[in-house]
Amino acid sequence: MLSGASAGGRGRRRFNATDQTGSLAPVPRLSEVIAALETLWPAERAESWDAVGTVVGDPDQQVTRVLFAVDPVQEIVDEAVKLGAGLLVTHHPLYLRGTTTVAATHFKGRVVHTLIKNDIALHVAHTNADTADPGVSDALAGALDLRVTGPLVPDPTDPEGRRGLGRVCALDHPLTVRELAARAAERLPATAQGIRVAGDPEALVRTVAVSGGSGDSLFDQVRAAGVDAFLTADLRHHPVSEARAHSPLALLDAAHWATEWPWCELAASQLDEISDRHGWDLRVHVSTTVTDPWTAHAASTTSDPLGAPN
Ligand SMILES: [Zn+2]
Repeated sequence: MLSGASAGGRGRRRFNATDQTGSLAPVPRLSEVIAALETLWPAERAESWDAVGTVVGDPDQQVTRVLFAVDPVQEIVDEAVKLGAGLLVTHHPLYLRGTTTVAATHFKGRVVHTLIKNDIALHVAHTNADTADPGVSDALAGALDLRVTGPLVPDPTDPEGRRGLGRVCALDHPLTVRELAARAAERLPATAQGIRVAGDPEALVRTVAVSGGSGDSLFDQVRAAGVDAFLTADLRHHPVSEARAHSPLALLDAAHWATEWPWCELAASQLDEISDRHGWDLRVHVSTTVTDPWTAHAASTTSDPLGAPN
């Protein structure tokens, strides 16, 4: 299961790919691996406010192991060191708003120091991975066995209409809201929060919009899509209260980290496939370390949220 601090060892070493001189399969340089990642998530497809691409790294450095994770935090960087990774790929940026210092007195500076001292590059694919085809919400839909019918907010620059933010999905066998929440709780990595639900637990769900990460700016598009439910993260009181007043739309709120983690597995398999095509000697790993900042949850002790005896 998805617990503990070990890296998921999805990578496999391939000794059978030999070149004409009989040497082992070539070890790629960082620049070659980054070029491969750029084909999956071109930096120019990121939002203008975003900070994606290579944060730390020498393009000439050879890379034999890559680690995928959601957050570029010290715990994950320490895991990359232990693994012997030459490249850490994260979904969240290290410096979203820029910085004037990388001094190790600050936790982000400490991350930079640890990376450089250990010859580990850091590359970020954030909103360019959200809107990719396949992207973060495809991975979320896949984890929940939902059939994607299209993007929730289509990217107008995609003539095929496949890229964009969030996904609209269909359930081949309708579930109740309660059953869908139970499936999300079972299939997404375990977190303290679990799944919060707003709406009638017995209402039937035939169509659902999903969006990995914070989704409460998407209510207009979710309503326009006419779906029965919306599964995302970071939902707040007022947007949820207003959405519930508008329509019977059911809301499922998971931990932000848990909704984006399935992308790491998807991304790792995409890089594995590219690596196979090139015949690279490259092992690709996915971190299973839980970096959701919420660490505990105390359920209310009565079924009445106001605590009145019932
Ligand atoms: Zn996120």
